[in-house]
Amino acid sequence: MVGGGQLARMTHEAGIPLGIRFKLLSDTPQDSAAQVVSDVVIGDYRDLDTLRAFAQGCDVVTFDHEHVPAEHLRALEADGVVIRPGVEALLHAQDKGVMRERLRTAGVPCPRHRIVADPEDVARFAAEGDGFPVVLKTVRGGYDGKGVWVVRGLEDAAEPFRAGVPVLAEEMVDFARELAANVVRSPHGQAVAYPVVESIQVNGVCDTVIAPAPGLSEELSGQAQEMALKIAAELGVVGHLAVELFETRDGRLLVNELAMRPHNSGHWTQDGAVTSQFANHVRAVLDLPLGDPRTRARWTVMTNVLGGDYPDMYGAYLHCMARDPALKIHMYGKDVKPGRKVGHVNTYGDDLADVRERGRHAADYLRGTITE
Ligand code: ADP
Repeated sequence: MVGGGQLARMTHEAGIPLGIRFKLLSDTPQDSAAQVVSDVVIGDYRDLDTLRAFAQGCDVVTFDHEHVPAEHLRALEADGVVIRPGVEALLHAQDKGVMRERLRTAGVPCPRHRIVADPEDVARFAAEGDGFPVVLKTVRGGYDGKGVWVVRGLEDAAEPFRAGVPVLAEEMVDFARELAANVVRSPHGQAVAYPVVESIQVNGVCDTVIAPAPGLSEELSGQAQEMALKIAAELGVVGHLAVELFETRDGRLLVNELAMRPHNSGHWTQDGAVTSQFANHVRAVLDLPLGDPRTRARWTVMTNVLGGDYPDMYGAYLHCMARDPALKIHMYGKDVKPGRKVGHVNTYGDDLADVRERGRHAADYLRGTITE
């Protein structure tokens, strides 16, 4: 796996029971996955020679992020390296402009959008629809709300162009909530769909995921799953695909973005589904039969732990484990930086309010924002 973040750490964990030999290309030995994987190459994924040397002896190469340059992926494929998902699919997770164009031609509903050339063009885009505000996004390199701007007038429109990356303008969707439809597809074309989840963002960062999405009609949930399966098949995705969706106030679904790897909206599956997204990603990239995606509890809630003022971790564990013996804690071993995702907790049960409260309490306690 290329990339040493928490997704690689948890994918590695899921491969252990299958006896899979897992090799990692990581930026530094301190990265989340590099701390736990024994076969680690430290190197830069932007360097083709490093990638070539790393891929030697791998049956299949997969990714914990979408930042490996497409030309390097093409070169590796030309060398005969098996890359899953392949570059033609991955392009749609790397570049929001390419993704929007492809989904539009496939007839998948998306927010109104187009590539804009400069601030004046943003004003024209606004005037073509309902005016400001509009959302501007750099087509590449964004994550956790970085690379996304809500622009309220011409005067704020200059900033996104400074990075020198093409800028995509989108209508500002007045959504009721955000959902994610997660599916996994294998090279054989087998696919499984997880229950559609609700994802709650705070300051552009995922905070809580509720599985299944409360109150979602069977019709919309089926539509979301079908949409995700269709995207996976049309784009030839292999592995886990997260389709982030907006549910509009008038009951429509619009695609926000795609991720072709395990995704934060699927972390609940570690403790709430028969087969986790990580286990199914491993199975898919190895072209093994996929595992059952069904839930194990009425409700499962994933709450992210963000970096804050860490108290004594041992004390926090004593408190959280004693208070809630059913709590599932997943910490990533990452250096604490304010606002950074350093772990998550999963809670499950029959009473959603209780399941949410237990997750909130544990996440806040582990972050250090509450002490009792
Ligand atoms: P990232 O690459 O950071 O995940 P996203 O495209 O998912 O970027 O945008 C981050 C957040 O910004 C979304 O989760 C959503 O809350 C908000 N957002 C993005 N696009 C729109 C839009 N067109 N209308 C309204 N809100 C949006």
